[in-house]
Amino acid sequence: MEEFRMDPVDLTFDLISSEKTGCRECLTAGDAIKSIEFKKGYIKIYEMKDRVQPSIYQLEGKFFKHSNAHGYEELIVEDESHSANFASYSADDIEKLLLIVSERLNELKGYNIGRNISVSRYVNGHDYWDLVILPIPKHSAERCHICESLSYVGNREVYKTENIIGYVPFSPKKNELLRITTIKHSAIENLDNVIAFDIANLLIKIMNKFTKGITFDIKQSGTEHFEIEVIAGERDPIEALGVTRINYSPEKTAKKISEKLTDGK
Ligand SMILES: [Zn+2]
Ligand SMILES: [Zn+2]
Repeated sequence: MEEFRMDPVDLTFDLISSEKTGCRECLTAGDAIKSIEFKKGYIKIYEMKDRVQPSIYQLEGKFFKHSNAHGYEELIVEDESHSANFASYSADDIEKLLLIVSERLNELKGYNIGRNISVSRYVNGHDYWDLVILPIPKHSAERCHICESLSYVGNREVYKTENIIGYVPFSPKKNELLRITTIKHSAIENLDNVIAFDIANLLIKIMNKFTKGITFDIKQSGTEHFEIEVIAGERDPIEALGVTRINYSPEKTAKKISEKLTDGK
């Protein structure tokens, strides 16, 4: 059981989580909700039900009257065995995978789950994408900050084709190597095979040069322009969405601390 809580002072979110560490796909038990043909087998999609639940401790007040955190998570799995094959895929395979992710996000759009999207892939782990959509933190923007930031890339540009650009952001995230985005304003749900192929080629180049462990994370701005964050090492998709994971219960911790403070020693 996990739940989101918001700090009303700085408006940041925590996820109170008792999740065990380990490969998310290997911890999963349950039936696939969908299969899609891929290479010589099938991609299977598993819905993760433990991720987001309404809070039982509702924070009352001006900022957060009730916890309507629900959100959604699914794993898009190419291979059931615990192995890492992404780096050996061809550009055609990766293009196809990106289009499958795009199509899946398109289908999910109809459910009104939220707009804060992260589809992350730890290249050196089990062969799956971890797709998380949260209603929080809410994106709201009038202009596209990605389009705007592209006009100031300057000497932070590292790669470019007619369609896509790779650059080091002005203000990178923790462990972020670079960011990939489309030069034209474009939503991940509208991904076409030309752009997907360009991205696939760049991902392959990156995987060949950075072999220590990479996470690719597809994100989307409030104005629906997507980008891919390239992170050194493995990253928690929840943290990628700006939410801090807390592995203890505030209520149980309060009890422990007050017992300690009043035990008379
Ligand atoms: Zn695994
Ligand atoms: Zn844009």
